[in-house]
Amino acid sequence: MRCGDRAVTAGLDVFLTNIKLHEAPQLASDVFARIQILPGSGYRSLSPVKRRQWIEGTLAVLKASPNGATPPARRTVTAVRTVAAAAPAARPVQRPLAPGTPKLTAEEAARLGVDAPVHALKRVPFALAVKFDKLGVHTVRDLLLLFPRRHADYGDPVPVAHLEFGREQTVRAHVWSAKERQFGFRMRATEATIGDATGMMSCVWFNQPWIAKQLPTNAEIVVSGRVSEHQGRPKFDNPEWELWSSDLLHTGRLVPVYPLTAGLPNRTVRRVMREALDQYVRLLADPLPPEMRKRLGLIGIADAVAQMHYPADRAALEAARRRLAFEELLPIQVTMLLRRRLFQKSAPAEPMPMSAHVERRFKESLPFTLTGAQERVLFDVLNDCRKPVPMSRLVQGDVGSGKTVIAAAALAAAIENGRQGVMMAPTEILAEQHFRTLKDLFGANGGAGNVVSAYPPFLSRALRIALLTGGAKTKERQEVHGALERGEIDIACGTHALIQGGVRFHDLGVAVVDEQHRFGVMQRAALREKGSHVAHTPHMLVMTATPIPRTLALTIYGDLDVSVVDELPPGRQPVKTTWVAADERASAERFVREQVQGGRQAFVICPLVEESETLDVKSATAEYDRLRRQVFPDLRLELLHGRMSAKQKDAVMRRFRNGEADILVSTSVIEVGIDVPNASVMLIEGADRFGLAQLHQFRGRVGRGAEQSYCLLLAEDPREEARKRLELMEETSDGFRLAEADMEMRGPGQFFGTKQSGLPGLKVARLSDVKIIEMTRHEAERLLDADPGLTEPQHRALNERVRKLIDSVVDEEH
Ligand code: ADP
Ligand code: MG
Repeated sequence: MRCGDRAVTAGLDVFLTNIKLHEAPQLASDVFARIQILPGSGYRSLSPVKRRQWIEGTLAVLKASPNGATPPARRTVTAVRTVAAAAPAARPVQRPLAPGTPKLTAEEAARLGVDAPVHALKRVPFALAVKFDKLGVHTVRDLLLLFPRRHADYGDPVPVAHLEFGREQTVRAHVWSAKERQFGFRMRATEATIGDATGMMSCVWFNQPWIAKQLPTNAEIVVSGRVSEHQGRPKFDNPEWELWSSDLLHTGRLVPVYPLTAGLPNRTVRRVMREALDQYVRLLADPLPPEMRKRLGLIGIADAVAQMHYPADRAALEAARRRLAFEELLPIQVTMLLRRRLFQKSAPAEPMPMSAHVERRFKESLPFTLTGAQERVLFDVLNDCRKPVPMSRLVQGDVGSGKTVIAAAALAAAIENGRQGVMMAPTEILAEQHFRTLKDLFGANGGAGNVVSAYPPFLSRALRIALLTGGAKTKERQEVHGALERGEIDIACGTHALIQGGVRFHDLGVAVVDEQHRFGVMQRAALREKGSHVAHTPHMLVMTATPIPRTLALTIYGDLDVSVVDELPPGRQPVKTTWVAADERASAERFVREQVQGGRQAFVICPLVEESETLDVKSATAEYDRLRRQVFPDLRLELLHGRMSAKQKDAVMRRFRNGEADILVSTSVIEVGIDVPNASVMLIEGADRFGLAQLHQFRGRVGRGAEQSYCLLLAEDPREEARKRLELMEETSDGFRLAEADMEMRGPGQFFGTKQSGLPGLKVARLSDVKIIEMTRHEAERLLDADPGLTEPQHRALNERVRKLIDSVVDEEH
C-alpha cells in the first residue's frame, strides 16, 4: 500500500464527500467518525505515512463493524474504485458494494420500482452501468424501453442434415469436440464440431478462443446463424450459441438485436434484459386508460414491452409495436389538436365569403383553365374563408403545380370583403416573384415601383399592392407601413420584414405563408397577431412544395387542415433525367455548353459536404473556379452559397433570372421555389449524397418553361442505396412517390431534419403507419372532446407527456 491516492478514480476525497453527502444515514457511526477526523483539506493533504495510519484505522473499524457482512479490506477498496468511477461527482453515489450484500435494500428497491438505477439489477455491475449510461440508459425503465433495432429470426431448430446454405437457421446438437486454434500469426479462434442424429458440422468463432472452454464435450447446445458451405458441408461462422434450456435468449427464436456502444455486446444486453423483464416489467404504469385500450384492441404496456424484446412470434411483435406506436403518437396528436383548438377559440374570424360571380370572373380572368386538383383545393380554401372560424390550411403541391393562383383567390376574397391580405415568402427574390405574379393576376398593367395600383376585372374596385422587403429604403418602408396601417394598401407581399416590429395592418383578413418549412410555428403565430388589433384572427393559408407524405402531414401539421394539389397543369414535359457515370463527365459538360449556346441557361449544383458549411462553401468555390477557368472560360458564370448575405444571394439570383449569366453554380441553398423559365438543364454533382426529396426539389428548378429540360445526375461510384435513389429519379417525377420512398429509406427524421419536423425522435412509430396515425388522430379528438383539459385522473399520464412535448417544441422554436 503506497498510499498514493490512486485506488479511487478522482481521489478518495471525492468519494468520501459523496458518501457523507448522500449516504450518511446508512454509515455506521464509527465509520462516519473516521471520516470526520480527516482535516478539512482532505485525505489528499495528508502525508503518505499519515494516510496509511488513517486507512489502517478505518479498515479496522470496518472489519469490526456490527453488520457482519463487511468484506475483507482489499475488496472494499476495489468496490470503492468502481463506485467512484461509475458515478460522476454530481450524482448520488451508492454505498460500496460487496459480494453478497444487496445493491439496494428491499425498501429502496420497492420505493424506486422501475426508476431504480440499472445497477440495481443483479447482472449489472457498476462497470456495466457506465456503459449503459453512454446509451442514455440510467434506470431500469430506460433499459426496458431500449428496444431492439431488429430481430434476427433464427426459427426453431432443424436437423443438421436439413440445413440450407445461405439461410439463417438454428440447430440443436451435442458438442463432439471443441478446441482453441491458431489462425495465422495473430488470430486465435474456437473450432468446434457438433452433431445430431442426422449429421455433423463445424462451427468457428474467430477471436473468441475462450468459448472452447465453455463447450464441454457432450454438452447440448443451440447454435444459430447464417449457414455457409465448407467442402460441401454446412458450417457456422461466428454463430450465436447457448446451452440448451427451455428459455432461449440468443438462438432458436426471434432474437433481439440492440443498438450498441463498444463494450456492450448483444449477449450481455439480452441477459440483462431478461432479468429486467422478469423483475420489473409488471411495475410499468400504463399511460393508456384501460377503457381506451379495450376499445381499440391494444395490449397492455407490460406485455407490449416484453414482446418487443422477446416476441413469441411475428404477430406478437407487431401487436406490441402497434400498441407502443400508438402510445408514442397520441401525445403528439393531442398537442397539435390543442394548439389548433386554442387559436380557433381564442378569437373568432370574420367570415369573408367570395361571391359566386366574383369567383366565376376570377377564373375567367386567368390565362389558363384550372386543373381538377386546383379546383378542389380552391373549393376547400374558399369554403374555409366563409366560416367564422379562422382558416388554418396547408396547401401542398409539387413544384409547378400552380399553388399561387389559389393564394391569389384567398387574397381576392379578403379584398372583396373590404379587408387586407398579406403574402409572405422566405426570401426576397421569392417575394418579388410573387409580387410580379400578383400584379399580373390582379391586372396592374405596367405599374412599376414598390406600390402599384391594380384594376382586377373580377372586382368592382381598384386596389393597391405593395412589396415590402428588408432591402427597401427606410423612407419607402415607413411609407408602406403607414399606408398598411391606414388601410390604403390592400395586399402586401414580402419577407420576414412583414412580421417585424413596425408593421401594423388596418384589418388583416388573410395571411398566406409560402414555403412553409422555412417558417416555424411561432412565426406563423406572429404573423397572425399582426392582424389582431381588430378583435378578429386572420385566416391563414400555408403553402409548401415539399411533398410531404400524407401520414407525415397529419402528424407534423396536425394543427392544420391539409389540401393537396396533386396534378400538374397539362402540357408540362417531364424533365429528362439521367444518371451520368464519372467517366462521362466531359460529355455532360459538353451537353451543358450546347444548351447554353442554344440560348438557354444552366444550374450546376455542388456536392453536399455535410460536416460543415465552411467546407461546403469551399468546395463550391473550387468547383466554380474549375468550371470558370477550365471548362467554360467563354461563358458567364455566377456563384451562390450559404455564406453570402441575403442581399448578395438575391443579387446573384436576379442577375441569373434576368439572363445576365449563363450558368449558376450553387450549393444546396438553391433549393427553394425560384422560377427561371429559361433554365433548361441542371447538372447535380455528387448526386449520390443528396436525399430523394432534395434532388426532386433541385430538379423542380428546371422544366418550368414549355421546352424540354434535362437533369444530369453525376455520381462517381454510388453505393447500393444511392444507386436506388438515382434510378428512382430517372424513373419518376412524382414528388409524392419520391418522398414516400425517401422516408422509407431514411426515416422521417432525416427526411425533414428533426428540427424542422418538430417531431421528438420516434422510437417505435413509423410514419408509414397510416392506420395507427389516423387512429391516434381520431382518438385525440375524442379525448379532447370528453376532457378538454386532460384533468381527469385516468388522463394524468397523458397530460404529463403532452406538457413535456409543448415545452420541447417551444424550446426549439426560440
Ligand atoms: P407552384 O405550385 O410551384 O408555386 P406556380 O403557382 O408558381 O407553382 O405555377 C407554376 C406555373 O404554372 C406558373 O407559370 C403558372 O402561371 C402556371 N400555371 C398554374 N396553373 C396553371 C394551369 N391550370 N394551367 C396552366 N398553367 C398553370
Ligand atoms: Mg410557389
